[in-house]
Amino acid sequence: MYLRHFARLFSAMAGPRPVVFSGPSGAGKSTLLKKLMKEHENVFGFSVSHTTRKPRPGEENGRDYHYVTREAMQAAIDNGEFIENAEFSGNLYGTSKAAVQAVQAKNLICILDIDMQGVKNIKKTDLNPLYISIQPPSMEILEKRLRDRNTESEENLQKRLHAASVEMEFSKEPGMFDVVIVNDKLEDAYGRLKDTLLEEINNVRKNKTSS
Ligand code: ADP
Ligand code: 5GP
Repeated sequence: MYLRHFARLFSAMAGPRPVVFSGPSGAGKSTLLKKLMKEHENVFGFSVSHTTRKPRPGEENGRDYHYVTREAMQAAIDNGEFIENAEFSGNLYGTSKAAVQAVQAKNLICILDIDMQGVKNIKKTDLNPLYISIQPPSMEILEKRLRDRNTESEENLQKRLHAASVEMEFSKEPGMFDVVIVNDKLEDAYGRLKDTLLEEINNVRKNKTSS
């Protein structure tokens, strides 16, 4: 009884639990996250990762990613500034300690959009997030979505498809994810996502009105 009380008190003090989103490139993570953040203003905060890849049209430095050179990123990694980092499709990606702290300082639910290696490495930390996997209905549909998005060269697309088949197998590993959402119809997947996060969303809103 007391233990449960203290566990609740402690988690309220530590702030809302972060949420990790993972899954193959093209599965729909950004689409779902943008929708979620737009509908729930002041509830979520995006952990802005660093990357050495070039920005896509419409992406903004500091909002979607911090776009950096490999040299600068490697130096920051060596300096201990990152919680995790990984090489994906020929580029470096990583979550800085500052990116997560910036969100947690505002008492928002910190969202991390990271690949499979990131998930494995975050599991070694004390971040204790909820792990959600976003999956495409099939490899064929994933390929079509990635091609229609029109953001990758053929070479890069092939690299992403190869990584996707590994990511799809990874999501089936027992205990790796708390929830797996198949993004077939967008509205259905979004509904499941909201259901999954309902309690956390309500907690953040409740704490905001009471403080
Ligand atoms: P990720 O962030 O996982 O790489 P995106 O959110 O960029 O994936 O989605 C990949 C492409 O698929 C985008 O062009 C997006 O508009 C489209 N898309 C996302 N979800 C769906 C869906 N449920 N049905 C059809 N197209 C989708
Ligand atoms: P994209 O280039 O499509 O934005 O991202 C490619 C992959 O890198 C996606 O699977 C995305 O989740 C992952 N990614 C983005 N930021 C990070 C990060 O900070 N760390 C790790 N490990 N992966 C990331």
